[in-house]
Amino acid sequence: MTIINLQTLDTIQNYLSSDIIDIVLLLSLTLDKSHAQLISHNNYQLSSNEKNQLNQFIKHRQSGVPFAYLSGTKGFYHLDFKVTPDTLIPRPETELLIDIALGLFNQNQTYEVLDLGTGSGVIAITISDKNPNWNLTATDFSINALAVAKQNTKTNINFQLGSWFEATPNQTFDLIISNPPYIKQNDIHLNELRFEPQSALISGKDGLDDIQIIINNIPKFLNEKGYLLLEHGFNQQQKIIQLLKDNFFNIKKFKDYNQKNRAILAQIKH
Ligand code: GLN
Repeated sequence: MTIINLQTLDTIQNYLSSDIIDIVLLLSLTLDKSHAQLISHNNYQLSSNEKNQLNQFIKHRQSGVPFAYLSGTKGFYHLDFKVTPDTLIPRPETELLIDIALGLFNQNQTYEVLDLGTGSGVIAITISDKNPNWNLTATDFSINALAVAKQNTKTNINFQLGSWFEATPNQTFDLIISNPPYIKQNDIHLNELRFEPQSALISGKDGLDDIQIIINNIPKFLNEKGYLLLEHGFNQQQKIIQLLKDNFFNIKKFKDYNQKNRAILAQIKH
């Protein structure tokens, strides 16, 4: 990367013609203008406040802070969500879970649905928004994440604080969904994810510790022929099928838009 002296940049055009990472997004964020507006006002000279704000954003972004933590928002499915460093940034892969869940039951009937480890709330909130007849419960062991999820919610969701099923000791569900942590300790990709909450990403030496806890404890929390829907790592499918085979049947496997194994749906035998 060429080293740019930010002090020498004054106009929108100066910034746009630099090769600063995410410069269009950062300019849009600072000036509250769309890309088209930036181009049509490209002679605009930034005020010193605007320049200071933009140059701060640029420095943070260059040091690796994800854009979503600078803007404080991320789009997911048909909605925009507030995100903070207490929550994972929603991934497009996770939209697959929404498609699967929405196709599972009749829209006009009532079902009990649980989102375990909801983070910013994307899974529970998106499903609740699409299907107001379903009763959504969402849990997280992080009180700060739960606070963000509550701010993101416009529908009526039952939020509970606690680790996995400790949060819902007396409830049972027709569908339990989770995007749990599933990256293995010391995975090389964790360096790129260093600004996100590590507890939402890492799960023991093979990345399966939390998935194992969920599968071991789930039987008594599922209603008759209820479903488990899990997001998982691209190389974990066979191990998860092994973990499921005693108590589950009707196991279905799904690939994400990159053709990587990414989700499993299974039905409890009882
Ligand atoms: N899919 C995420 C990633 O690899 C990980 C999310 C998770 O562990 N639940 O960046």
